[in-house]
This record gives sequence, C-alpha cells and structure tokens, in this order.
Amino acid sequence: MYQTLKKYFGYDSFRPQQEEIIQTILAKKDALVLMPTGGGKSLCYQIPALIMPGTAVVISPLISLMKDQVESLRESGIYAASLNSNNTDRESADIRRDCLFGKVKILYISPERLLSEIPFLLKSMNISLFAVDEAHCISQWGHDFRPEYTQLKVLHQYFPEVPVIALTATADKVTREDILHQLGLVHPKVFQSSFDRPNLSLTVKKGLKKKEKTMAILEFLSRYENECGIIYCMSRKATEEVAEMLQEHDIPAAVYHAGLSAEERNFTQEEFLKDRIQVVCATVAFGMGINKPNVRYVIHYNLPKSIECFYQEIGRAGRDGLPADTLLFYSYADIAQLTRFAEESGQQSMNKERLQRMQEYAEASVCRRRILLNYFGEQSLHDCGNCDVCRNPPQRFDGTILVQKALSAVMRTGQHAGFHLIVDILRGNQTQEITQRGYDQLKTYGVGRDVPARHWHDYLLQMLQMGFLEIDYKENLHLKVTETGAQVLYGKLTATLAQIREERLPVTARKSKSSTVSRRTGQSMPSRHAPFLDDESEGLFEALRALRKRLADEQGFPPYIIMSDSTLHLLCSMKPTSIESFGMVSGIGDFKKQKYGKEFVTLIRTFI
Ligand code: ADP
Ligand code: ZN
Repeated sequence: MYQTLKKYFGYDSFRPQQEEIIQTILAKKDALVLMPTGGGKSLCYQIPALIMPGTAVVISPLISLMKDQVESLRESGIYAASLNSNNTDRESADIRRDCLFGKVKILYISPERLLSEIPFLLKSMNISLFAVDEAHCISQWGHDFRPEYTQLKVLHQYFPEVPVIALTATADKVTREDILHQLGLVHPKVFQSSFDRPNLSLTVKKGLKKKEKTMAILEFLSRYENECGIIYCMSRKATEEVAEMLQEHDIPAAVYHAGLSAEERNFTQEEFLKDRIQVVCATVAFGMGINKPNVRYVIHYNLPKSIECFYQEIGRAGRDGLPADTLLFYSYADIAQLTRFAEESGQQSMNKERLQRMQEYAEASVCRRRILLNYFGEQSLHDCGNCDVCRNPPQRFDGTILVQKALSAVMRTGQHAGFHLIVDILRGNQTQEITQRGYDQLKTYGVGRDVPARHWHDYLLQMLQMGFLEIDYKENLHLKVTETGAQVLYGKLTATLAQIREERLPVTARKSKSSTVSRRTGQSMPSRHAPFLDDESEGLFEALRALRKRLADEQGFPPYIIMSDSTLHLLCSMKPTSIESFGMVSGIGDFKKQKYGKEFVTLIRTFI
C-alpha cells in the first residue's frame, strides 16, 4: 500500500481513515465512505485498484469529473479511461478491447452507460471493484439527484463477488440510508469523517450597500492576485453586474448560470479550470463539476437559502487543503427575497426553517464553525479561531432602549411600515412618503437620530433574528411586533444587542504584476496556515507556477493535473536541484519525476 502510494502519487503517508478503507476493499468487503470535499476519497479506491488484479470500474455522474480523474491518473502513469457519450465509436472500441485484455486499471463510466454495457462488456471483464462516486446522486432528497443512480443495485446482482465502495461528501442521514439501501451493500463498513474544513476561514459582512459590497470585494480580491475564486449570486443579473464590475478593474471574470448555452458554460468552466479566468460569478448552477483543487476563495454575494447549500458552495474552496477564505454578504433584502421564495415553494415550512437556520449562522455571536458542525450533527468542543467571531468576538450591551424605540416606531405606524421606512422614521428623515403619511407627526419620529442608518439596519436584523420583530410577507413585507417583542416594548423583558463593528475598508488599488509587495505578507485577514513566502521565494513560486501552466497548456489540461499548489509550495521551500531530490517531494510520483523533473530542476537552479 505504501509503496503504491509513493510510486504513483508521491505521498508518504495516508490521511485519517484512508488506510482502513483501502484494507476493507482489499478484503473484498463493501464500504460507504462519507468524507468532506478534499478529504482524499479518490485514493481510497485508486490504491486498491492498482493493487488488485483486473480493472476497477468507477461510476461517475459527470463527464467533466471523469475527464479530470482520467487525466490526473494518466499523469501519474496509470492507464485509466472513461466510457461516456463523448467517446467516438473508435475510442469506445479501443477502450473495450483494452479492458478485456486487463490493460485498463481504472475505468470511469456513466451510470447510463454502465447499465447498457453490463450484458456485454462487463461479464467478460475481470473486475476488481466497483466505486460509486458522488453516491448522494442516488437520493431524491438531495441536490444532485440522478435517476440512473437508483438502478445501481444491479452491481451486486450481476457481480456478487465484487466489492462495492460508495463515496460522497454529503453527510445527512436520509441520503446515507438511501445509499446503503439502494445499492444493496452487504454488511458495509461505514466510514464517517469529520466534516470540518479547518482550512476555510469564515467571515460574514452584514447590511452592506451595493457600493460597499463592491469595495469589500475589491479589497478582498486584492489579496489574491492571479488566484482563482467563485462569487455566488442569487440572480443572473447580479452575476452579470459583478462580473462586469470586476472586468472594469482588470480582473478576468466570467459569468455562469443556467441561462447560458451548454457550450458557453463548458467554455467558462474549462477556462476557469485552466486558470485563465480568475473569478466565476455564478448562480447555484455552477456546481458539482468543480473539482478544481486550487479555488482560493468563495464569496456569497447574497445569503444562500440553507446551510446545506452554503456548506456545499464554500466547500469548493481549498480542496487542496491550503488556506482558503470565504466571505458571506447578508442583508435585509436577501432575507425578504428568500422568504418570499420559501413561501411560494411547495415545502413552505421546511424551507422557512432552513432559511431561519441560515440566518442564525449569519447573525452568530459564537464561533461560526461550531454552528456549522453542530448543524451537521457534529459537536465541536473548541472555538475554531478561524472565523470572524473567534477573531473578533462581538461585544454585547443592554439594547433595551434601542429595541423599544424601534418597536414603538413599528407600533405607531399601525404596523404598516416596512424595514426602510422604519429606519427613516427613527432617523427623522424627511422623505416624501414620510410627510405624505404624516409619520413626521409620530412621537417616535427622529428618536433614533443619534444612531447611523446602517446601524439601525443591523439592529433591526438582530431584532428579527431574536424574534422581537417579524416580517409580514402577505402584507407588503411590513414589520410586525411579536409577543416577545411586546414584552420588551412594555418593559417586561430586557434585550441584549451585539455592538456593531465598524470596519471601514480602504480600497487597495489592484497591484500591477511587477509589484514587489507580496500579497501574502500584506494580508489583513489572517489565514492560519498561510505559507509564508518572502519576496525572493515569491519570485520562484510565480516562476514555478508559470512553468506548470505552460506545460499544462501545451497538453491541453488544467495546471493542477500536473501538480497541486501544495507541491509547488514544497518545491519552493525545498528547492530540489537534482531530479532525484525532485522525486522525493510529496506529490511527485515516479512518472512525474521522469516527465517533469528536468524542466523544474533547471528552473529552480536559476534561483539558487
Ligand atoms: P475528494 O474526492 O475527497 O474531494 P480528492 O480525492 O480529490 O478529494 O483529494 C483531495 C486532494 O488531497 C488531492 O489533491 C489529493 O491528491 C490529496 N491527497 C489525498 N490523499 C492524500 C495523502 N494521503 N497525502 C497527501 N495528499 C493527499
Ligand atoms: Zn470560530
């Protein structure tokens, strides 16, 4: 096992559970592997595939995923192939023949193709194992349901002797039961890893206006020159606006949403994988196919509709285990919009509950990671130190009077005013609406003049979250005082609010490529594991990255197929000057040593 790991993948040790999972497969037993994105699921079936005689058959839902895996394995000197609807007849025939002769070690196949190929090909092949990748596609309750996945019971019906390993990053119980049941796994061993992704930092920014969001995004991106990320937006229009804004600031950005043609979407995805587009502004349509390991950040331009969606989306950052940052914007407008969606959906109460939990996360005054893990049924005993709450815990104060002012304003409008109008009344703003409705005559008009409008926005969000106020969706989103709210208003309850943190972010102009200032050392948001690079090493790092990109471009695949960012960082610090020492670096197996050693070593020598 260790020899195979070193020879083909260049790694020295297994990650938690990998070894046990591999042993289970080698013993020809079924297994279900639940491991977060980036946990290292692929090796769990690839190593047994290399050790066992015959061909491993991997069922995978997307052609792009298969292509990626096949390219990556071939770059490790392993004969892998994929059978899918993109193959020409000739290719299919060649692959089939090589499978029959046992030359192909790992065969990727789509579920539809598998079903149609079973009677012919597979019966005459020597199959070592079946791996069902993205196994959550089996569940109707999940987000990526694929009807063909529900027929995979045939695997054990036709091949009772061959072990089946199912793998997914989706944790929830229903999905798990569905997988076990529908695949008909026999006494499966279930391996459940922690779903924590400690390398992802978590930050939430509340109530920012469009312009402020733009500034915050530019500031954030200024730390990521040349590095890729995703910005998720609620609407197509928003993706277009954000992408345009980035392009105006010379940041290569593109949009991705369901309104584009399949070709357009494929093109964008490919360019992103190949590090040619830096930022993709996407709706949720940009999903499962994104197994790019070096996505360095995920920004949510709007609040997602549930913690499941949120976790899935931020999970696309930092698959390589290196530090990655996530930033979530959260505003009243998002809540209003999402609640409307939930109201109009078929499963009103469930969707509202989900949104409520998402909102709790956004309003958190305790470690955000603990909230996430808790949501997935994992108790964490420690604060993470890598979320904004841990880094800068909110101060609390007795906010009873502020709450009373706001609730009183709501009451005096006869509960017929919305969020922004209430802020105008509290601030004593003279808008047309205020004078027309005579709200300037109210006793509460202007009682909150001393508090800036943006703070009122924040406090009102807190009051919504604490259940002092609610939004009436049937009545033009007017605010209503709840029973608990009434108790505060009449002095029977006190209310604690979180102090608002003022962070005025200076917009740093985008640094030119020749800039010698390291964006890493200039970071304002601490990334716990950020590899420290001085200016000189940064020069080497950029040179290595450029070499990797050139070599990848020449062969028409993404740079991460050649080696991961972590391997680049290792090369940068170890500076191997012989092919032999190049081959010792973690992530460089025999094949890569032979194929790329000379070029990398030559480059590194020029930096010594
Ligand atoms: P998943 O499928 O669980 O999202 P992958 O299988 O793509 O994760 O693995 C994520 C990254 O971790 C890959 O770059 C992989 O090469 C790396 N990796 C996996 N196992 C190990 C290991 N034992 N040592 C070092 N790196 C590993
Ligand atoms: Zn924390």
